[in-house]
Amino acid sequence: MSMKVKEVFAKTVLTRTAIVGFDYCLNPYVGCGHGCKYCYASFMKRFTGHKEPWGEFIDVKVNAPSLLKKQLQRAKLGMVAISTVTDPYQPLEKKYEITRRCLEALLDKQFPVNLLTRSPLCLRDMDLFKRFNHIKVGLTMSTHDENIKRIFEPGSPAIESRAKALRTLHLEKVKTYAFVGPLLPMDSKTLVQMLEGAVDEVLIDKMNYPNKVKGLYHKHGLDDYLKEDYFNVIGIDLKERFEKKGIPVTMIF
Ligand code: SF4
Repeated sequence: MSMKVKEVFAKTVLTRTAIVGFDYCLNPYVGCGHGCKYCYASFMKRFTGHKEPWGEFIDVKVNAPSLLKKQLQRAKLGMVAISTVTDPYQPLEKKYEITRRCLEALLDKQFPVNLLTRSPLCLRDMDLFKRFNHIKVGLTMSTHDENIKRIFEPGSPAIESRAKALRTLHLEKVKTYAFVGPLLPMDSKTLVQMLEGAVDEVLIDKMNYPNKVKGLYHKHGLDDYLKEDYFNVIGIDLKERFEKKGIPVTMIF
């Protein structure tokens, strides 16, 4: 798979958002190397004039940290979601450190942060996380099954490595959550076992854009896992299992 990387200068990086619970969103990149097949953010492709398939282009907002510093001078304190249409710790972050430098700017002003990723690369920034007064770090755990992950999230890190990252963060006393969504085919008991003792809370979401991935489910004989019924049954089952372990759950569907 070829990846087209472009360094760009953004006009704004801290954006007001209407998403419940957040005041701002911050996206250090346009596009995402994880290339999840169900990704809702793929609308960014049209929006930004990219012709490459989703997962094969990335614009790196190289001026994001300096721009953020400027924006923060005037911004009212509020919760920042990192990120909403990209993964802040996708592979290129290792080289560019845009997310890290944005976090440094936010830390300077103690803006509260809610961070969500699919990558254990986030552990690199543990030193910063520990200095925030309010930060939550989430890892997406859409299944326990690596084979299922490979079908739906071909470019993202192994599930096991994400569970391990959550455990490490939790041990270091950084507040953690698992975003169990979209609910891919899984065994709920195994997923709960993987996350016990690693997370402070859990968010559960269904597959919101089933039409995008219908063909993929069919190709792999997984049609039954794309039914509304599956999401309701597995969602409630997970909720009960997590709550039995004393882990609070929010269902967002
Ligand atoms: S990691 Fe997130 S933004 Fe990136 S492709 Fe997957 S769902 Fe989309």
